[in-house]
Amino acid sequence: MSNVFYRSAKSYPVAVRAEGVFLWDDAGRRYLDGSSGALVANVGHGRAEVARAIAEQAGRLAFAHGSQFSSDVLEEYAGRLARFLGLPSHRLWAVSGGSEANESAIKLARQYHVERGEPGRYRVVTRVPSYHGASLGALAASGMGARRELYTPLMRQEAWPKLARPDPALSGEADAERLRAVLEAAGPETVAAFLCEPVVGASDAALAPNPGYHTRAAEICREYGVLLIADEVMCGMGRCGAPLAVRLGDSGGGEAVTPDLVVLGKGLAAGYAPLAGVMASAEVYGAVMDGSGAFKHGFTYAGHPVSVAAGRAVLDLLEREGLVAAARERGAQLLAGLQDLQARHPQVLEARGHGLLLGLVLGDPATGEAYPVPGVAERVAHAAKARGLLTYPGSGALDGTRGDHLLLGPPLSISEGEVSQMLELLDGALDEAH
Ligand code: PLP
Repeated sequence: MSNVFYRSAKSYPVAVRAEGVFLWDDAGRRYLDGSSGALVANVGHGRAEVARAIAEQAGRLAFAHGSQFSSDVLEEYAGRLARFLGLPSHRLWAVSGGSEANESAIKLARQYHVERGEPGRYRVVTRVPSYHGASLGALAASGMGARRELYTPLMRQEAWPKLARPDPALSGEADAERLRAVLEAAGPETVAAFLCEPVVGASDAALAPNPGYHTRAAEICREYGVLLIADEVMCGMGRCGAPLAVRLGDSGGGEAVTPDLVVLGKGLAAGYAPLAGVMASAEVYGAVMDGSGAFKHGFTYAGHPVSVAAGRAVLDLLEREGLVAAARERGAQLLAGLQDLQARHPQVLEARGHGLLLGLVLGDPATGEAYPVPGVAERVAHAAKARGLLTYPGSGALDGTRGDHLLLGPPLSISEGEVSQMLELLDGALDEAH
């Protein structure tokens, strides 16, 4: 008998080793990591440089509590990360996971308004679909009924007004204008922030609004005194072919949107250690420090030196190996292959995404709509895994989100041949499961 509390009653292979884009289980089976786990392993597995950096940091300074110390590694990393992201005067609040980071961003937005004498601002507008995390606050913010349903009695939805999914038929600007109506209905003087994923991951298939959306949303937020929070936990850090997905434009990275708060996780330390964070603008930081003088919030492991050292080593690799540009190149190859699969497999309704955050919308070929009962994504993912390919399935079907989807997002370091291998394995899985 195992003493492990598994996530579900299905059986799990036991992973023992990983290298590059592959993992191996204890039976010697090899899996191509077509989803980087849950869009985490951005620099690939088994990178000796990162392992060395972790060991060196753990030996020299494993822990210093944030109420007593900053650390040399955190001081250096915060500056490098800010420059990499093109947010030179934002400051890093480092935590351990994306949910913690979103909780931090939401509480910081709330405190910002209180510090400025607007204590009536507490609501956070979010979108359907969206996923911001599993902790109660981040889950309450999420427009993903399937994950929220069981816990709704614990969440006051009136605090989280919802904006509808991006509409591909509208220009980005017209689409973002719909935020205005949500703010007006909520009472703009009660709203602290608008929180959105620039490219939606866990709750839909790499769904992004048209270009111009984020620029206009930022303008509307400014007009109403509402902070803009970009949740880039999944889509940031180069995953979409740009350091910040909120700045993706149709000409390869044009919108100069500067969110007040940017939330990061997953690819930040690429799975080598738990690391996430919030990048906060000088304006937000200043309001807190010049006001009460302290962010009224904290986690024991905030700014953990070993995690930060892992993040710094990952950033070294991203820069040295040009992995942001690689995400664009390999992403174009993978998207073209997925579109080809769409043409041959009628249950694939759409293939889309940016860089190496790509997705398939799956559904009923007869109607072109989602199946009423979700499940096809799980079936395809299961068939793919049996062939040695890992993918990330999901389903909506509540909250007005669409049905099944499959996310594809291998490490940014994947080779051209490995992308072809991925497509072959997925082709076989789609033949089998629909
Ligand atoms: N935000 C987004 C956009 C995510 O995709 C996720 C996880 O999938 C989270 C937040 C939560 O991050 P974590 O699971 O690290 O708490």
